[in-house]
Amino acid sequence: MGQENGGVTLITWQDIKKKIMGWNRNLKYYGIPRGGQYIAALLNPVDTPEEADVIVDDLIDSGATKKRWTELYPDKPFMAVIDKTTPEYSGKWIQLPWEEKGEIDVEEHMLRVLQYFDDPNREGLRDTPKRYIKFMKEFLTTPEFNFTVFDSEGMDEMVLQTNIPFYSLCEHHIAPFFGYAHVAYIPNGKIVGISKLARTVDLYAHNLQNQERITQQVAERLQTELNALGVAVVLTAQHTCMSMRGVKKHDTWTTTSKMLGVFKDDLNARNEFLSLIKQ
Ligand code: ZN
Repeated sequence: MGQENGGVTLITWQDIKKKIMGWNRNLKYYGIPRGGQYIAALLNPVDTPEEADVIVDDLIDSGATKKRWTELYPDKPFMAVIDKTTPEYSGKWIQLPWEEKGEIDVEEHMLRVLQYFDDPNREGLRDTPKRYIKFMKEFLTTPEFNFTVFDSEGMDEMVLQTNIPFYSLCEHHIAPFFGYAHVAYIPNGKIVGISKLARTVDLYAHNLQNQERITQQVAERLQTELNALGVAVVLTAQHTCMSMRGVKKHDTWTTTSKMLGVFKDDLNARNEFLSLIKQ
């Protein structure tokens, strides 16, 4: 994982999120300053190692840090996202997303882009590079959350949430696309707090994305968390890269769907879901 760039292996936020996908979010994580704190923040952070179930760091370099912390807290597992003692990363120059040269540098690049199209010194544009980078950072770093599940108490009927608004950015043009998500599942012993469905949609929409991938990621995440009898996700969206440029078709809605379990296998279940989301 990671991208080679002039001898540097760039690790992106996406890489990090993928690596911690399977980590237990019900445990408490203490992040070793400073890199480990970024990792803990994506999981379930606590302020002191004493409160923690797990000690987390961004990178194992020589192994000295790991040794020190394991001696201090022998009963707490030590975890790291990148282990440079493994063949995958050994001898590589790793650059983590928070190690970039910093905001100023990025803003300067943005200023150059703006300069290509307009006068960046005119009043309205003067702070635009700074604002734009801030906006993108906020939008693209939706934190992970605890996917708390409850006993379904025998409930095995469809749970459905319709018209969940979402906003995303298309990865080809960095142009917004937005619309509604419709999410359903049939419990198999577990249900989830209703707001978590919308948060799952946001988690995957707030990236440079395409609509098909969001649909699939939301469905698969719910299936992983809930082990449901079935999961159905439909997204309908308007793409500004289509309405503002190119074919310039307004009011065109693109629909994508992902059906898992009974929604895939049982026509009745699927039709029930589809008829309910049309209302
Ligand atoms: Zn596009």
